[in-house]
Amino acid sequence: MKPSRTSNTLTRLRLISQSAFAVFCLIVGYQFYRFYLWATGASPDIALRPPAVEAFLPLGALVSLKRLVLSGEFDAIHPAGLAIFLAALFLGLFLRKGFCGWICPIGFASNLAEKIGRKMRILMIPPRWIDLPLLSLKYLLLGAFAWLILWNMNLQELTAFHLSPYNMISDAKMLHFFLEPSRLAGGIMLALVALSFLMKNPWCRYLCPYGALLGLLAIFSPLQVQRDRNLCIDCKRCEAVCPSSIKITARKTVRNSECIGCLECLPVCPQQECLKLSLYGRTVSPLILPTLVIGLFLLFWGAARLTGHWQSRIPPETFRHYYQQVQTIGHP
Ligand code: SF4
Ligand code: SF4
Ligand code: SF4
Repeated sequence: MKPSRTSNTLTRLRLISQSAFAVFCLIVGYQFYRFYLWATGASPDIALRPPAVEAFLPLGALVSLKRLVLSGEFDAIHPAGLAIFLAALFLGLFLRKGFCGWICPIGFASNLAEKIGRKMRILMIPPRWIDLPLLSLKYLLLGAFAWLILWNMNLQELTAFHLSPYNMISDAKMLHFFLEPSRLAGGIMLALVALSFLMKNPWCRYLCPYGALLGLLAIFSPLQVQRDRNLCIDCKRCEAVCPSSIKITARKTVRNSECIGCLECLPVCPQQECLKLSLYGRTVSPLILPTLVIGLFLLFWGAARLTGHWQSRIPPETFRHYYQQVQTIGHP
């Protein structure tokens, strides 16, 4: 069966969305690198610090979120990090793991590696008895962070961490980690990259606590992929392309916390109207999901900018003062 126009549009739209956010992140990364060089004294050229780099500080954002709930105070040091975290949580709750499927550049890189691995015929599907225990790892990591931050830290401790020099330079620490990794960290990163060609999305599937949190929220999402049992011919094409290895044919409704809302399963189904996107049980156009994911994410970004919750209140000179101690400042 020929793919419909909507199906082609979906595939193209996902590629455009993921590529655009990936390119944006590369530009942000380069800008931040230039700022880092200036702030650490390695370059005389002044560069602006891009706030979007804070998207890569999810643990700091979790601390900020709890502080926001307990004190009503929005993070003034890494406000963009908290704004992006709130946007991702909101998307998770209403639009499945749309953040993973349409925005996150790590998910995009992971998808690309999977496709290359498939083309090279080196992609392996681990047996269920290995896959299932590995799947629990990211939830264990999430549980550990939730226990440490949400359960154990009171407002005083949260504020002490928030105001610590370590928090101030956490983005510089992250960059320093990638620029000069220890042998062990470098080996683990290389192994993960290599594994991404051999297995489906090992980082996202087994280790990312951010994705685990979004997946738990997505269980309550009103948007779901639905399968019509009467029309299904059990060809399993949907399962073959699903990046999350979901047993779609075993379900009528995909409520699985692993579903990233990529909608890759829809265009490959040879039976018209067999696989559909539903909102509160009613069939809706699949284009609704990406439109809302991208639109709402940009809306959060615009709202954060307009309300002054995007740009850090810390002057560049203060960042510079602390960045110069990036090697010596440790966790509080
Ligand atoms: S699981 Fe983590 S790394 Fe993967 S796409 Fe989702 S947020 Fe990004
Ligand atoms: S079930 Fe469909 S929408 Fe969900 S992850 Fe699999 S392919 Fe993507
Ligand atoms: S691709 Fe469609 S017909 Fe084939 S197994 Fe999946 S839902 Fe059934």
